[in-house]
Amino acid sequence: MIVDSHMHLGEFPLFNVSLDGSGLDKLMASCGLDKAIVFHPDNSMVQRVIADRPSIFGLVWANPREPDCVQAVASFLDDQNFRGIKLHPLLDGYHPNDPMVHPLADLAAERGLPLLIHTGHPIFTLPWSVEELAQAKPETKVIMGHMGHGNIIYINAAIDGAERQPNVYLETSGMPMHTKIAEAVNRVGASRVLYGSDAPFHHPEVELLKVRLSGIKSSDLSMVLGKNAERLFFNISG
Ligand SMILES: [Zn+2]
Repeated sequence: MIVDSHMHLGEFPLFNVSLDGSGLDKLMASCGLDKAIVFHPDNSMVQRVIADRPSIFGLVWANPREPDCVQAVASFLDDQNFRGIKLHPLLDGYHPNDPMVHPLADLAAERGLPLLIHTGHPIFTLPWSVEELAQAKPETKVIMGHMGHGNIIYINAAIDGAERQPNVYLETSGMPMHTKIAEAVNRVGASRVLYGSDAPFHHPEVELLKVRLSGIKSSDLSMVLGKNAERLFFNISG
């Protein structure tokens, strides 16, 4: 079972890439992905794409600066195809532990669903700032998307933060060092590290290979590639 925990639907002219429903179907088939977790700031578009695709699920993109954000997110979450909340504090311009984020963290905890937060870039998505939110909201499962991303100082900070906060999970997409995946598993535990690709910005095959080459043992590999996501997003344990 392979679950890709981090994929973007939509068009991204800055990157010269795009991914739509049929493109995603093909990508999943060619890479052997069993389930995909997707998002885009246009939650209604995501809802339409995932409606008739039983293996593809969404996270609700939440921007707490928008009026009535919590209410809107709650109503999207009533659709069981949505399995959590995505925050991008850098793009949307707020500190992850701003009090206006707290009702969203509470909502995620109430629904038993995780918050996936982009990490890796100053000023709003450094792992220390995301850790502040996790510490303030211990009942909320906080996934650090990209586990610190490209910079070793931030990658180490993400692993350190997850070691300190039992409600922090590390997602591997876009983080270049396969050795740091093994280190995360060793220090934080295999149950709190999960695979994601960040497609279409990165190729799922490349991101899968990085996890497979990390040298973790096969029982840990099956947790990182799928079982942890099954538990976090779908409450399926096994
Ligand atoms: Zn992403």
